[in-house]
Amino acid sequence: MGIDTTQSVAIDWSRNAVRLLEGDGHRSADTHLIKPTFPGLGKLSVYLKDESTHPTGSLKHRLARSLFLYGICNGRINQGTTLVEASSGSTAVSEAYFANLLGLPFIAVMRRSTSEAKIGAIRRFGGVCEFVDHPGEVYRVAAEIAAQKGGYYLDQFTYAERATDWRGNNNIAQSIFNQMECEEQSCPAWVVMSAGTGGTSATLGRYIRYRGFDTRLCVVDVEHSAFCQAWQTGDLSTTCAHPSRIEGIGRPRVEPSFIPGVIDRMFKVPDAASIAAAHVLSERLFRRVGGSTGTNFFGLLCIASEMKRRGEEGSLVTLICDSGDRYADTYFNAQWLACNNLDIAPWYARIEAFLDGATDHLSTD
Ligand SMILES: *Cc1c(COP(=O)(O)O)cnc(C)c1O
Repeated sequence: MGIDTTQSVAIDWSRNAVRLLEGDGHRSADTHLIKPTFPGLGKLSVYLKDESTHPTGSLKHRLARSLFLYGICNGRINQGTTLVEASSGSTAVSEAYFANLLGLPFIAVMRRSTSEAKIGAIRRFGGVCEFVDHPGEVYRVAAEIAAQKGGYYLDQFTYAERATDWRGNNNIAQSIFNQMECEEQSCPAWVVMSAGTGGTSATLGRYIRYRGFDTRLCVVDVEHSAFCQAWQTGDLSTTCAHPSRIEGIGRPRVEPSFIPGVIDRMFKVPDAASIAAAHVLSERLFRRVGGSTGTNFFGLLCIASEMKRRGEEGSLVTLICDSGDRYADTYFNAQWLACNNLDIAPWYARIEAFLDGATDHLSTD
């Protein structure tokens, strides 16, 4: 029995699609692991894995490529397949880019409040945006549109953890630990990360166990999100009625890609502290970072404060998830902050005092 023409066309298409996706990875160098110095931190060193420099501006570039390869190699994405995604924006930007690369139609289902910069980027890559009012609606609407169009729902919130090769293949964890190899404190005491899909923390936590590193994983959550409470109580049916104010992280439900068993510690960072931390870090790096990077950075500094007060030494790693240029109208806009009752000034002052050594104390209270 031979293969008929339709089948062989499909095989050629997917072979070429995989080649294009691999080519995109091959043209990029690895992202930087930045080591900023803060006078107040003494013997503690801080490393920032800069995922904002991917071609589509965020850590979701890695995820989107993995989700596309996963769909293609499972035979679910073929020539002409309409792709649909539920997203808070960054994933949809990266997926629109890859859909454009492969010549596939792409529809993003997002909250109406998604930043204009992200909506503009999705449209520029030829993607179509559908809006819903509440973040909890995105899943159902995306699945319905995919069913209507006979398309494929990429479903990052379910597949993020399994589409990524957590043992290696230059995933984010392997990349970080390789880049740490020549450092004085080469094995980080803590890696700190926030959760959107939970996929990045799943990869980090699994990789730490797989390689037997003496590193602990802390996941930081935002004010309005189901993750932290679910981790603390073990109740994965936990929900949160208020939408998250920090784009990319904090979810109304515990996403299937969130793997609680690989997390050593979790706590919530107040939204004003996250945004203040994004402002402080932006000043110190001479370029803007996004709100979730602020959450990560604030969480890292809280752990650094505990270590410092105990007289411990060591390194701490977190991620720059995306650039703050996407949030000029929100986190970096005084009027938006005032409208949202977010007073960042006291947090800003506390973070500065800690970084400059005026105090050893920084915490979420
Ligand atoms: C998705 C996202 C995160 C969280 O990463 P996950 O792997 O989905 O948990 C953090 N920041 C931004 C800007 C994101 O888009």
